[in-house]
Amino acid sequence: MTAICTLCKTEKDEADFVKSKKSKNGLYSWCKSCSYKKKRIWIANNPEKHNSYQSAYDKKHYILNQDKIKQNVKNWAQKNPERVSQLAAKSKQRRKQRLSSVENERLSSKDHKELLSKLGLFDGQYFYCYVTGLKLDKKDLSFDHVVPLSKGGPNKRENLLPMNLKLNLSKQDKLLSEWEFSGKKMSDLVIADLKPTLSV
Ligand SMILES: [Zn+2]
Repeated sequence: MTAICTLCKTEKDEADFVKSKKSKNGLYSWCKSCSYKKKRIWIANNPEKHNSYQSAYDKKHYILNQDKIKQNVKNWAQKNPERVSQLAAKSKQRRKQRLSSVENERLSSKDHKELLSKLGLFDGQYFYCYVTGLKLDKKDLSFDHVVPLSKGGPNKRENLLPMNLKLNLSKQDKLLSEWEFSGKKMSDLVIADLKPTLSV
């Protein structure tokens, strides 16, 4: 089957049209190349709108297709080892730049542990999540930049506190006051003794 594109008026094969449930012949009225052209023009004229649509779409799409996407990324990484190490080097570089732009301090793990002991977040063997107060196994342990580096937080001991890894992934680069998890305001949950220190 063929159809005529209403934009370029060219008769083209069915495969050159995007399928549409709404139209009579089951095809979108513009051919694919016209549609792409139109889309590119619209994006060029509406860059901000496009970005916000795109990130909303990306988020929803990711949530719905998480497993498939993870598998695709894995497959792609296996096929493109050079690209992967390039990207890794780039992100390392970016992180280094960001670190050098914030107030910096050499983090000695001994000093850090001393501070965490004072705060009740380290008992000589285990670390404790500064939000939940729960003991952290090795697999759950991560250190959170309380004020994220991207928001000007310093790379200092007192800004680097132990947090459950899953929680940390949800916090991303949010401030405590901005962070919600499963509908809860997380700043409300920070263990009471730390609240004055963190001014959540
Ligand atoms: Zn066309």
